[in-house]
Amino acid sequence: MTKIDVHDKEELQKCGQGDTSEHITIYEGSHKTLGAATTIRRLLPRRHRRMVGPWCFLDHFGPVAFEDRQQAMWVGPHPHIGLQTVTWLLEGEVLHRDSVGSVQVIRPGQLNVMTSGKGISHSEETPEENSGHMHGLQFWVALPEESRNVEPHFEHVPQVPSVNVDGITFNVFAGSAFGVTCPAKYYSPIVGFDAHLVGSETADVPLNSAFEHAVVVTSGEVQVDGETVSPGFMGYLGTNRESVCIEHSEDAHIAIVGGEPFGEEIYMWWNFVARNAAEIREARDDWAAGRRFPDVQGFEGKRLEVPEFAFS
Ligand code: MN
Repeated sequence: MTKIDVHDKEELQKCGQGDTSEHITIYEGSHKTLGAATTIRRLLPRRHRRMVGPWCFLDHFGPVAFEDRQQAMWVGPHPHIGLQTVTWLLEGEVLHRDSVGSVQVIRPGQLNVMTSGKGISHSEETPEENSGHMHGLQFWVALPEESRNVEPHFEHVPQVPSVNVDGITFNVFAGSAFGVTCPAKYYSPIVGFDAHLVGSETADVPLNSAFEHAVVVTSGEVQVDGETVSPGFMGYLGTNRESVCIEHSEDAHIAIVGGEPFGEEIYMWWNFVARNAAEIREARDDWAAGRRFPDVQGFEGKRLEVPEFAFS
């Protein structure tokens, strides 16, 4: 997936540091569309909350029911630098192809982590054999200075570790939580997990107090430390927390992501994460000229055109 909104493309986003506020802050996502049928709620970056740990981008897409797969997800080859893309599905399937030769269908419970390092291109599409439904999350994770120019690579985890705590099953798709560790390679202190919440209950979810965290709700309505969070909103928790109280009176689904406040200032524009405008311009010009980023094989459509870059 990529940013497809012109306004986003034209805004050079300079990202900041963590926040030690003790109170939950609710951020409203912006609405986009992907293909003809799929709604996206963009929860990161927000104007006053660019990052949560190393997490710098979050799209919640769907749920969608479709007949034409090109109306669900159909994103042609496009480049990335300086980040990892993390794909986590709740329903349906997505086919990933990339310029290091990966061809991988992902389904719920599975994890795709693509590390762009110094440069990769990829496409994402609803595969021909599909359930007619799609719902999921796609994140970007900024790579720290010492790792941002690694060789591009791709990792598929067929089943992430799950652990049952007081009747709730948590699936850990990044870092370590609840005594289990996701096997996918990340490059800075990070955590990500989700849970399907059933019925009505209250749970204290333990957190790493060195991390900042955010709670995203993809279905149902949840009280997070007493504040309502529903789909389309993100509850930011700051650092210095031992736990967060989650209450719900209906079935719901939540994801919690976090990490050490990133500490480095990053620039985001289009599909790139960098440290200054010159690096962004170079990546932009390389994609436009067909340099640096090898081709993606097998996608039946055009590659994405990069917009003009108007910043110095
Ligand atoms: Mn992408």
